[in-house]
Amino acid sequence: MRVNSRPRSERKPVDPSTCFFCLSNPQLAQHFIVSIGEESYVTTAKGPLPLSDSQGLDCPGHILIIPLSHSPTLASIPDSTTRKDTMTEMVKYRRSVEKMLAQHGYVAVGFEISRHSGIHFHVQVIPVPDSKVVAVKSEFERAAKKNGYTVIERDEEDNDGGDDDEDFFKVYLGGKKILYISLSPEVRFDLQFGRKVLATILGLPERSDWKSCVQDEKDEVKDAEQFKTLFKPYDFTLPE
Ligand SMILES: [Zn+2]
Repeated sequence: MRVNSRPRSERKPVDPSTCFFCLSNPQLAQHFIVSIGEESYVTTAKGPLPLSDSQGLDCPGHILIIPLSHSPTLASIPDSTTRKDTMTEMVKYRRSVEKMLAQHGYVAVGFEISRHSGIHFHVQVIPVPDSKVVAVKSEFERAAKKNGYTVIERDEEDNDGGDDDEDFFKVYLGGKKILYISLSPEVRFDLQFGRKVLATILGLPERSDWKSCVQDEKDEVKDAEQFKTLFKPYDFTLPE
């Protein structure tokens, strides 16, 4: 994940050949990829928030679910069939990861930023131990208030994000409930907000910046392989 801090007007547009999340980018680090579906794929995170020796997982378990379409939001994927199939498959991946993590005593907390000024939409999922999950909602609400964001709790709907063309930040709490922050154009939103809040919840504030958590490539490979092993029984893209 690259965070570009330059003013928007100075930014060069990112096309698929240089996009960090496009499979067609020849520079893409292949060793993070753990599953490829029809319309989306899953990678482990570069600079993961949890530690590699996370209890019961033996890997950080921090993943990204990424659409194959190079689009800043799901709602702006031009072809309606691709859009619908992408949304369906990304939910399926998230539910599969949820099931896998539940077996190991974790809730899959996901978050995403959907903004038309973004580059390539993705969902991040981070395992939160069952013992800490009670703090997730209240901590997000507290941090949102502190930052001046208005957060509302909603039910997750099947077409979430599809017909909804406004900019938003969303937290999946691992059940049917989500937290939703509307990002109207005047809201200056911290791109690292989700990670920072989860770093507090997990008691890992020193790991809130992904750049200070970047691993050696051999550890990245090891963690991706371990995640693949854990996910294998839940990965619907594999033959039974
Ligand atoms: Zn892209």
